[in-house]
Amino acid sequence: MTVKQILEQKGREVETIGPDASLSDAAAILSQKRIGALVVLGDNRRVAGILSERDIVRVVGRDGGPALSQRVAQVMTTKVVTAREDMTVDQLMDLMTRGRFRHLPVCEDERLVGVISIGDVVKRRIEDVEREADDMRAYIHTVAG
Ligand code: AMP
Repeated sequence: MTVKQILEQKGREVETIGPDASLSDAAAILSQKRIGALVVLGDNRRVAGILSERDIVRVVGRDGGPALSQRVAQVMTTKVVTAREDMTVDQLMDLMTRGRFRHLPVCEDERLVGVISIGDVVKRRIEDVEREADDMRAYIHTVAG
Protein backbone atom coordinates (compact mmCIF):
# COMPACT_ATOMS: atom_id res chain seq x y z
CA MET A 1 0.00 0.00 0.00
CA THR A 2 1.24 3.50 -0.87
CA VAL A 3 1.00 6.85 0.91
CA LYS A 4 -1.38 8.02 -1.85
CA GLN A 5 -3.78 5.14 -1.08
CA ILE A 6 -3.63 5.82 2.68
CA LEU A 7 -4.40 9.51 2.12
CA GLU A 8 -7.31 8.64 -0.17
CA GLN A 9 -8.79 6.58 2.72
CA LYS A 10 -8.07 8.89 5.65
CA GLY A 11 -8.26 12.29 3.93
CA ARG A 12 -5.73 15.00 3.27
CA GLU A 13 -6.57 17.46 6.00
CA VAL A 14 -3.52 18.51 8.04
CA GLU A 15 -3.61 20.44 11.32
CA THR A 16 -1.10 23.26 11.07
CA ILE A 17 0.10 26.19 13.16
CA GLY A 18 2.21 29.32 12.56
CA PRO A 19 5.72 29.74 14.00
CA ASP A 20 4.67 32.78 16.07
CA ALA A 21 1.86 30.99 17.94
CA SER A 22 2.50 30.10 21.58
CA LEU A 23 3.07 26.60 22.92
CA SER A 24 -0.10 26.93 24.95
CA ASP A 25 -2.07 27.57 21.70
CA ALA A 26 -0.38 24.49 20.21
CA ALA A 27 -1.21 22.37 23.27
CA ALA A 28 -4.86 23.48 23.07
CA ILE A 29 -5.10 22.39 19.40
CA LEU A 30 -3.38 19.05 20.08
CA SER A 31 -5.79 18.40 22.91
CA GLN A 32 -8.96 19.50 21.03
CA LYS A 33 -8.09 17.55 17.89
CA ARG A 34 -6.72 14.54 19.81
CA ILE A 35 -3.56 14.44 17.74
CA GLY A 36 0.16 14.26 18.56
CA ALA A 37 1.79 16.80 16.26
CA LEU A 38 1.25 19.98 14.26
CA VAL A 39 2.99 20.88 11.03
CA VAL A 40 4.39 24.42 11.25
CA LEU A 41 3.85 26.47 8.11
CA GLY A 42 5.90 29.55 7.24
CA ASP A 43 4.76 32.64 5.31
CA ASN A 44 4.95 30.92 1.93
CA ARG A 45 2.86 27.97 3.23
CA ARG A 46 6.00 25.82 3.04
CA VAL A 47 6.79 23.42 5.89
CA ALA A 48 8.93 25.37 8.37
CA GLY A 49 8.96 22.73 11.11
CA ILE A 50 7.04 20.17 13.13
CA LEU A 51 5.95 20.44 16.74
CA SER A 52 4.95 17.29 18.60
CA GLU A 53 3.55 16.71 22.07
CA ARG A 54 7.03 15.44 23.00
CA ASP A 55 8.56 18.85 22.25
CA ILE A 56 6.05 20.53 24.57
CA VAL A 57 6.57 17.97 27.35
CA ARG A 58 10.34 18.41 27.01
CA VAL A 59 10.31 22.18 27.65
CA VAL A 60 7.55 22.09 30.28
CA GLY A 61 9.40 19.29 32.08
CA ARG A 62 12.57 21.38 32.03
CA ASP A 63 11.24 24.93 32.64
CA GLY A 64 7.78 24.35 34.14
CA GLY A 65 4.46 26.00 33.20
CA PRO A 66 5.94 29.35 32.08
CA ALA A 67 7.50 27.50 29.10
CA LEU A 68 4.00 27.43 27.57
CA SER A 69 4.36 31.12 26.65
CA GLN A 70 7.32 30.37 24.36
CA ARG A 71 6.79 30.62 20.59
CA VAL A 72 6.38 27.49 18.51
CA ALA A 73 9.45 28.50 16.44
CA GLN A 74 11.67 28.30 19.55
CA VAL A 75 10.79 24.67 20.22
CA MET A 76 9.82 23.01 16.91
CA THR A 77 12.07 20.65 14.96
CA THR A 78 13.19 22.47 11.81
CA LYS A 79 14.88 19.60 9.97
CA VAL A 80 11.68 17.86 8.95
CA VAL A 81 11.75 14.49 7.22
CA THR A 82 8.87 14.27 4.75
CA ALA A 83 7.28 11.47 2.75
CA ARG A 84 6.14 11.35 -0.87
CA GLU A 85 2.86 9.92 -2.18
CA ASP A 86 4.59 7.08 -4.03
CA MET A 87 6.22 5.69 -0.87
CA THR A 88 5.13 2.35 0.57
CA VAL A 89 4.12 1.50 4.15
CA ASP A 90 7.44 -0.33 4.58
CA GLN A 91 9.36 2.80 3.55
CA LEU A 92 7.36 4.89 6.04
CA MET A 93 8.09 2.40 8.84
CA ASP A 94 11.76 2.58 7.95
CA LEU A 95 11.82 6.41 8.06
CA MET A 96 9.94 6.51 11.39
CA THR A 97 12.14 3.84 12.98
CA ARG A 98 15.41 5.43 11.86
CA GLY A 99 14.31 8.96 12.83
CA ARG A 100 12.56 7.86 16.06
CA PHE A 101 9.47 9.95 15.35
CA ARG A 102 5.80 9.11 14.80
CA HIS A 103 4.69 11.69 12.22
CA LEU A 104 5.51 12.27 8.57
CA PRO A 105 4.20 15.26 6.61
CA VAL A 106 3.60 14.30 2.98
CA CYS A 107 4.83 16.81 0.39
CA GLU A 108 4.65 16.97 -3.38
CA ASP A 109 6.69 19.73 -5.07
CA GLU A 110 7.30 21.19 -1.58
CA ARG A 111 3.52 21.55 -1.09
CA LEU A 112 1.98 19.92 2.00
CA VAL A 113 -0.60 17.36 0.81
CA GLY A 114 -1.20 15.23 3.91
CA VAL A 115 0.24 13.73 7.06
CA ILE A 116 0.81 10.12 8.13
CA SER A 117 1.06 9.10 11.78
CA ILE A 118 2.43 5.88 13.22
CA GLY A 119 -1.19 4.88 13.95
CA ASP A 120 -2.00 5.01 10.21
CA VAL A 121 1.06 2.87 9.46
CA VAL A 122 0.29 0.26 12.14
CA LYS A 123 -3.36 0.02 10.99
CA ARG A 124 -2.31 -0.77 7.38
CA ARG A 125 0.41 -3.18 8.50
CA ILE A 126 -2.10 -5.13 10.63
CA GLU A 127 -4.53 -5.24 7.66
CA ASP A 128 -1.71 -6.58 5.44
CA VAL A 129 -0.79 -9.28 7.97
CA GLU A 130 -4.45 -10.33 8.37
CA ARG A 131 -4.86 -10.51 4.58
CA GLU A 132 -1.71 -12.63 4.25
CA ALA A 133 -3.00 -15.00 6.98
CA ASP A 134 -6.40 -15.29 5.20
CA ASP A 135 -4.66 -16.05 1.89
CA MET A 136 -2.49 -18.68 3.60
CA ARG A 137 -5.55 -20.30 5.24
CA ALA A 138 -7.39 -20.36 1.90
CA TYR A 139 -4.34 -21.88 0.20
CA ILE A 140 -3.94 -24.59 2.87
CA HIS A 141 -7.67 -25.33 2.59
CA THR A 142 -7.30 -25.76 -1.20
CA VAL A 143 -4.23 -28.03 -1.14
CA ALA A 144 -5.35 -30.05 1.90
CA GLY A 145 -8.78 -30.56 0.38
P1 AMP B 1 6.93 12.28 17.62
O1 AMP B 1 7.42 10.90 17.93
O2 AMP B 1 6.44 12.40 16.21
O3 AMP B 1 5.99 12.81 18.64
O4 AMP B 1 8.21 13.26 17.64
C1 AMP B 1 9.39 13.04 18.39
C2 AMP B 1 10.40 14.15 18.02
O5 AMP B 1 10.70 14.09 16.62
C3 AMP B 1 9.90 15.58 18.28
O6 AMP B 1 11.03 16.36 18.66
C4 AMP B 1 9.38 16.05 16.92
O7 AMP B 1 9.49 17.45 16.72
C5 AMP B 1 10.32 15.31 15.97
N1 AMP B 1 9.65 14.93 14.73
C6 AMP B 1 8.40 14.43 14.58
N2 AMP B 1 8.14 14.15 13.30
C7 AMP B 1 9.26 14.47 12.61
C8 AMP B 1 9.62 14.43 11.21
N3 AMP B 1 8.80 13.97 10.28
N4 AMP B 1 10.88 14.88 10.86
C9 AMP B 1 11.73 15.31 11.82
N5 AMP B 1 11.45 15.38 13.11
C10 AMP B 1 10.22 14.97 13.53
